[in-house]
Amino acid sequence: MRCPFCSADDTRVIDSRLADEGDTVRRRRECQSCDERFTTFEHAQLRLPQVTKSDGRREPFDEVKLRGGMQRALQKRPVDNDDLERAVQRILRKVTVGGDREIDSEKVGQFVMQELHELDGVGYVRFASVYRQFEDVDAFSEAVKSLQELPSASEKRQQMSLLEGDDDDEAPASPSTSTGKGGGKKRTRKKR
Ligand SMILES: [Zn+2]
Repeated sequence: MRCPFCSADDTRVIDSRLADEGDTVRRRRECQSCDERFTTFEHAQLRLPQVTKSDGRREPFDEVKLRGGMQRALQKRPVDNDDLERAVQRILRKVTVGGDREIDSEKVGQFVMQELHELDGVGYVRFASVYRQFEDVDAFSEAVKSLQELPSASEKRQQMSLLEGDDDDEAPASPSTSTGKGGGKKRTRKKR
């Protein structure tokens, strides 16, 4: 790496250690020409994908929006901020793994639901009902189905019955919310 003082090409690493709990490598370097020393930091650059909405539009992945949505779902719930942050980081890793340039918003929604499912039952149901309102019905029922296939947590049955109860009670006038006959677009998706 080039020396920032004299621009010589020949610099030598004289010390290297982990920082930020292992997320960063900190290197002390010394220029072989002018003997100046400087520090470099190396950390992984996560390249967030574009999010493809159900209507085909694309938008940049928005970490702030993701965190905000989860915070709203968890408002006044006994969930530690650190736990939320760890969940956000796990979702970021999931959407960047494999380096795909695009991801379905539906898929992101499923990741969020999985994390909320672990964090707080109420937050999960809140998010799920908002998600159902804004995304198409097929996507929602698919997400719920995939959650049902997850290894069972103790509260899971209760949460699912809450969801189903919600369905029965509300039966709103709008036909677009009735389960099973949304959009007409049939998705077939391989489970992984
Ligand atoms: Zn130099």
